[in-house]
Amino acid sequence: MTYAHPFDDKEIWFGVGSQDLYGEDALRQVAAQSAQIVDALNATGAIPVKLVLKPTLKSSDSVKQFMVEASASPRCVGVIAWMHTFSPAKMWIRGLEVLNKPLLQLNTQHHVEIPWESIDMDFMNLNQSAHGDREFGYIVTRLGIPRKIVVGHYTDPDVARKIGTWARACVGWDASNTMKVMRWGDNMRNVAVTEGDKTEAERVFGASINTWAVNELVSYVDKVKDDQVKALIEDYKSKYDVAPELLDSRYDSLFAAAKEEAGMVNMMNDYGTTAGVDNFEDLGTLSQLPGVGAQRFPSEYGWGFSAEGDWKTAVLVRIASVMGYGLDGGASLMEDYSYNFVPGHEKIMGSHMLEVSPSVGTMAKPTLEIHPLGIGGKADPVRLVFTVAPRRDAVVVSMSDVRERFRLLMNVVDVVEPDGSLKNLPCARGLWAPRPNLKESAECWLRAGGSHHTCMTTSIGREAWEDFARIAGVELATIDENTTPREFERDLEVSEMYHRLNNQH
Ligand code: MN
Repeated sequence: MTYAHPFDDKEIWFGVGSQDLYGEDALRQVAAQSAQIVDALNATGAIPVKLVLKPTLKSSDSVKQFMVEASASPRCVGVIAWMHTFSPAKMWIRGLEVLNKPLLQLNTQHHVEIPWESIDMDFMNLNQSAHGDREFGYIVTRLGIPRKIVVGHYTDPDVARKIGTWARACVGWDASNTMKVMRWGDNMRNVAVTEGDKTEAERVFGASINTWAVNELVSYVDKVKDDQVKALIEDYKSKYDVAPELLDSRYDSLFAAAKEEAGMVNMMNDYGTTAGVDNFEDLGTLSQLPGVGAQRFPSEYGWGFSAEGDWKTAVLVRIASVMGYGLDGGASLMEDYSYNFVPGHEKIMGSHMLEVSPSVGTMAKPTLEIHPLGIGGKADPVRLVFTVAPRRDAVVVSMSDVRERFRLLMNVVDVVEPDGSLKNLPCARGLWAPRPNLKESAECWLRAGGSHHTCMTTSIGREAWEDFARIAGVELATIDENTTPREFERDLEVSEMYHRLNNQH
């Protein structure tokens, strides 16, 4: 990955609740133990965003001030609250009401074991988070504020892992709220699921989605200097096996493809956008449909990309790219294409005509190839060809409009090796076994009205997406190893009622 680290300048603020009742000596111990806990969590390496301990919160005014500052700070992407002692929760109401950053309630304590022989009233007064966190949990629930809850001793690796996953969702949420999506052209004609309410998307996800004339992209491509194109071609040669004809008789096509990548990148950088969308029906005088350039958006720039005017998947790919930064794997546009119904070998083959990104991991070094493309009426496009590397616990996530709201739909899948060579397939592809199995997964997917376009994510899994959806206040239906079509249908009906009753999100 060559793009800038999206977490470096971000912080999670750690607020510890107490009160003045216990005296200065107890509060000094609260502060010291809190610092020890925060230092230990930071030292695990499992949390990719720095936790910053703030002074102990002992009054309604100090809580309000803390929440106002956290809400206004561009560095702060989330708040962790822990009640070391008992912190009467009415003093949290004013502050929680103004908090606009994601919240995590940590239910931990300083000691692992109850000191059976030495415990006395002083120890109990100082170490009573089992008590204090219940009072805090009550008020957060009463106020209807979404939060992640993590329970366990702070040295338990699972605690740091869960906080780390949530921290990734917080940074994804921050990226969503600062996202600008550049669309070249509108929606592919007559396609339903990729249409949608971009104004509502900005309200819900914070992402600003707009369209630019493809003519402007053409002029950006025309202005690209040869040096930039040649540098990109060198980068291709270093990362992929370039088909010999592209370096010889068809070098002009390779040059044109790299020039298109450079033009798209220059235009997106000029406008500060972090996701792009094109449409093969609206290419102006571009010589070929962008292939390799679009495929490199997630892998080389950390940007989202989707095709056919589908801004929804582009938004998801950008969010997933940020959430998964630094981990093995990544995110890409994917599209369900063909089933293997052979008993015992049931799986789905996903692909797209060009644009699947190698960011998700590849079985072998991708090859850069040129082949005809039957649609679009343009010159043969240059594209990366590869098979997605096997990976357990990957997810495919789609976004669809279900009239008054967005629905995210997720299937937990295991990416597997293909059963044959696929040697005549001139595009990138992946094979996966969906959970619980192909037939029930597909039945549930169809039931929920999920899209044919998805964001395949191989870096972060279901928990990060669950955390993200809770933060965003967006419906997330999940198909996993425990799903049955009958229960899933009922869950969708309950979810429908819940979201219609609770639609102020
Ligand atoms: Mn498509």
